[in-house]
Amino acid sequence: MDPTYSPEAEAYREKVQAFLAEKLPSNWNGLGGLEGDDITDFVTAWRKTLYEANYLAPGWPSEYGGAGLTATEQVILAEEFTRAGVPGGGPNDVFGIQMLGNTLLMWGTEEQKSHYIPRLLAGEDTWCQGYSEPDAGSDLGNVGLRAELDGDEWVLNGQKIWTSAGHLADHIFTLARSDPDSPKHKGISFLLVPMDQPGIEVRPIKMISGESEFNEVFYTDARCPKENVVGGVNNGWAVAMSLLGFERGEAAATGPIRYQTELDRLIEMARERGLTTDPVIRQRLAWCHSKVQIMKFLGQRTLTQFLAGHHPGPDGAISKLYWSEYHRVVTELGVDILGADALYIEGRPPSSSFQTDDPGAANTSGSWVNTFLNARAGTIYAGSSQIQRNIIGEMILQLPKEPKPA
Ligand SMILES: Cc1cc2nc3c(=O)[nH]c(=O)nc-3n(C[C@H](O)[C@H](O)[C@H](O)COP(=O)(O)OP(=O)(O)OC[C@H]3O[C@@H](n4cnc5c(N)ncnc54)[C@H](O)[C@@H]3O)c2cc1C
Repeated sequence: MDPTYSPEAEAYREKVQAFLAEKLPSNWNGLGGLEGDDITDFVTAWRKTLYEANYLAPGWPSEYGGAGLTATEQVILAEEFTRAGVPGGGPNDVFGIQMLGNTLLMWGTEEQKSHYIPRLLAGEDTWCQGYSEPDAGSDLGNVGLRAELDGDEWVLNGQKIWTSAGHLADHIFTLARSDPDSPKHKGISFLLVPMDQPGIEVRPIKMISGESEFNEVFYTDARCPKENVVGGVNNGWAVAMSLLGFERGEAAATGPIRYQTELDRLIEMARERGLTTDPVIRQRLAWCHSKVQIMKFLGQRTLTQFLAGHHPGPDGAISKLYWSEYHRVVTELGVDILGADALYIEGRPPSSSFQTDDPGAANTSGSWVNTFLNARAGTIYAGSSQIQRNIIGEMILQLPKEPKPA
């Protein structure tokens, strides 16, 4: 466990710091310092800055619009951006660039790459992920959305659910059953489907926070061209799994920075409210402190492997389980420290429903209560805690596989 950086790497860090100093306002205190339309305006302008610097997909080769950075440089870039409290892209880039872009570079045809990659970098297409269905979540191999060939087109019928950003996207990458007679995981195809067509209906779902971040998506004779299958017909399971594996190694470095920033803010709030002498609050804060320290060491282990060229693999389940379970507890403490003030929501809500509030956010009920509510979902999306424990048990500890219901 030794994620130390060479002098060349530290020289690159200075370059990134100079980039940030040049591009950010002098009084910049993190995205959390902005409110309302100023957030959208900043993120739009910032994304353009990153696009022009080839920093939206920093690890991609320059022929595909990336910056061709090494793994170490990518980690440094992400660390410095996180410390500065700026995003690494726009809100849709996790779907468009991180998930789909990486998948197309691995599995796409030359036509698919040359058509979609420039468009998703330029922000011309916005994407969402159509994996989950009412009967296929943890058991994703059970997808039932039907895809049938009709001449030069696939015709799709069925339903997806929990589709984040489905109401904002104009394209959906979707898993569909293209051969109902093959065994469960064998008859699935990965399709690229335009959403602006009469066969697609998007219905928002209201979340516990009151926001509508995710949706149901209904397909009724929806269509996409025959060539929009990625990785070959009936080979969608392999494509889907590699997409889920595009966990960026630098998350091991940035996660602990974000959670430390959040905890510092929480301690500040306890201080402001005269609660740092309360023995129970002190004990709970100390528990959080020790958890964030452990998270840093876990991150350093993953980072060391990543910098040595190893893919996180099933180890990713340890950190997913760890941060998501921790985040439920720390945000509950945030609400307890607010006390009765938590009953009245005021102040800027987080700009995203995922993980911590934006760095620089004020200690308001709008920040903490919404983050507390969002944290309930953290142990469900991207694989529930039970599924992470199964992965750790079976793939890391080599315990016997859980019995199948059949
Ligand atoms: C905020 C949010 C955003 C999301 N965004 C998207 C998106 O953009 N696109 C998309 O496709 N999906 C999305 N999802 C869906 C997410 O991937 C699923 O919710 C998740 O995979 C769990 O599936 P499920 O909800 O069907 O629960 P189920 O699979 O029905 O599980 C129900 C419960 O049973 C447990 N369980 C299931 N199987 C086992 C087992 N074998 N052993 C032990 N326990 C088990 C689970 O842990 C869970 O507690 C999102 C979910 C959330 C909460």
